[in-house]
Amino acid sequence: MRGGGEGEEQTPDSGPLSAEKLASVAGFGRAVAAAGYVSQPQSVEELQEILEVASSREWKVTLRGTGRSYGDAALRSEAIVLDLRRMNRILSWDRESGVIDIEPGVTIEQMWQSTLPQGWWPPVVPGTMRPTLGGCLAMNVHGKNNWQAGTVGDHCLEFDLMPPSGEVRTVRPDTDAELFQAVIGSFGQLGVLTRIRMQLKRVETGSVRVTAVPVGDLGEMLQRMDGAKDDHEYVVGWLDAFAQGKRLGRGQIHLASYLAAKDHPSPQESLNLESQSLPDRVFGVLPKSKMWWFARFVTNRFGMRWVNSVKYFHARIFERNKTYDQSLAAFQFLLDYMPGWERAYPADGGLIQHQSFVPAGSAEEVFREQLEICHRYRMPSFLAVLKCHRADDFLLSHAVDGFSLALDFPVTAKNRQRLWAMIQELSQPVVAAGGRFYPAKDAAISAQLFQATWREGQLARFSKLKSEIDPRGRLTSALAERLLLPSH
Ligand SMILES: Cc1cc2nc3c(=O)[nH]c(=O)nc-3n(C[C@H](O)[C@H](O)[C@H](O)COP(=O)(O)OP(=O)(O)OC[C@H]3O[C@@H](n4cnc5c(N)ncnc54)[C@H](O)[C@@H]3O)c2cc1C
Repeated sequence: MRGGGEGEEQTPDSGPLSAEKLASVAGFGRAVAAAGYVSQPQSVEELQEILEVASSREWKVTLRGTGRSYGDAALRSEAIVLDLRRMNRILSWDRESGVIDIEPGVTIEQMWQSTLPQGWWPPVVPGTMRPTLGGCLAMNVHGKNNWQAGTVGDHCLEFDLMPPSGEVRTVRPDTDAELFQAVIGSFGQLGVLTRIRMQLKRVETGSVRVTAVPVGDLGEMLQRMDGAKDDHEYVVGWLDAFAQGKRLGRGQIHLASYLAAKDHPSPQESLNLESQSLPDRVFGVLPKSKMWWFARFVTNRFGMRWVNSVKYFHARIFERNKTYDQSLAAFQFLLDYMPGWERAYPADGGLIQHQSFVPAGSAEEVFREQLEICHRYRMPSFLAVLKCHRADDFLLSHAVDGFSLALDFPVTAKNRQRLWAMIQELSQPVVAAGGRFYPAKDAAISAQLFQATWREGQLARFSKLKSEIDPRGRLTSALAERLLLPSH
């Protein structure tokens, strides 16, 4: 594996995979990439055929959705990369009960666009609508409502699982609780999800009512976020990671709740897709597809210091406790406003994100230390986001009763080694506080740090299942090899 980049080469092999190419496959942040044989099955039968060939030739297989994990979760050198985006049919949709059956390559975007006009919304969504449901369940994604709605896995009613042997098995939380809780969040290591049944949430309108609250420091930020949990459905904090001293952790919180029909002037229209479309021009002039190109000029340490400060003072002066209504798509998928924004990061390295989950009682101390470590390394995060969480029973769960802090960092050929060293240092207070890390938002931590966050017996339970389901270790990824290797 190596740093990001492009490249293509024909595979010398013949058979069902002969048309596939050795191609460079990167994580979302482009900081890590690997050359794999990309294959795009369109059906369960094609998938079975590929797994059979892989098995007969002793090839490794890595599963991939839209590649929206920031790091190395959906890539591996010289493996067959099973890109599942073409298995993207909605198999059934019941508008009375809100139950939907889908193939794993259906995206969050495709799903809500099919159901919102009838008044149903996915109860848990990440900050972008591009991921597939297969990828979301494999990482067990959370939203800005994790402390009250749980993870995407909490709304999954059942799924079909295809282990490397190729036989499909339906797994339900009531009859196969252990397997259900192990597969969700196991980053594609226990089989391919080939069908997913989800329960959606009834909504009366396609809007949320949002309040923006400026906060002066980290302590106030965490206190206010915690205090808002009873009265709001979504809570998210942004902080200016360049601020130091007394201002460390200053930022803004957004609180939001679903808008009831009685509070909306046109509830039915708000459910239409036209009411949800994100504007295609910024300030009414600049095409948003080109915005990343302009953003390149400020995506550096000096530019981002300025951007973070301006954002903070704007929040303090012009948005102080302002309440406004926003479409569900605009509120949830803020990062989709500027397609390709990740390309504004350095061409020679991209970006990585690091998200730590810390129990409530230690969060202020740990996050303070992390922000200070970044200053000491002279690498403050360009974008820092806080969320509220609750613990859950999924075997490899990343959530705890507390908060998470997600930090974005630019990667360059020059800072790469130092940045990786800094991530190890940022992780230590998290481990000491009984916190966790999120594989979807990681490219750097060591197996030792990752495994130090596991509960007793967890690794043994996971390893037992893995050896039963995939005895030859066919399914793997660069992330699995980095984090699951014996650390001692
Ligand atoms: C801008 C942005 C914002 C984000 N915001 C959030 C957020 O708020 N909350 C959050 O939790 N995450 C967030 N994420 C992370 C993202 O939601 C997850 O990484 C998600 O898993 C990506 O889905 P994907 O389809 O791109 O999967 P990939 O990244 O391609 O793959 C993810 C994992 O799923 C496995 N996999 C894929 N398909 C299958 C399948 N059918 N069966 C079994 N395993 C499979 C892969 O092997 C891999 O381990 C964000 C990402 C971005 C880029």
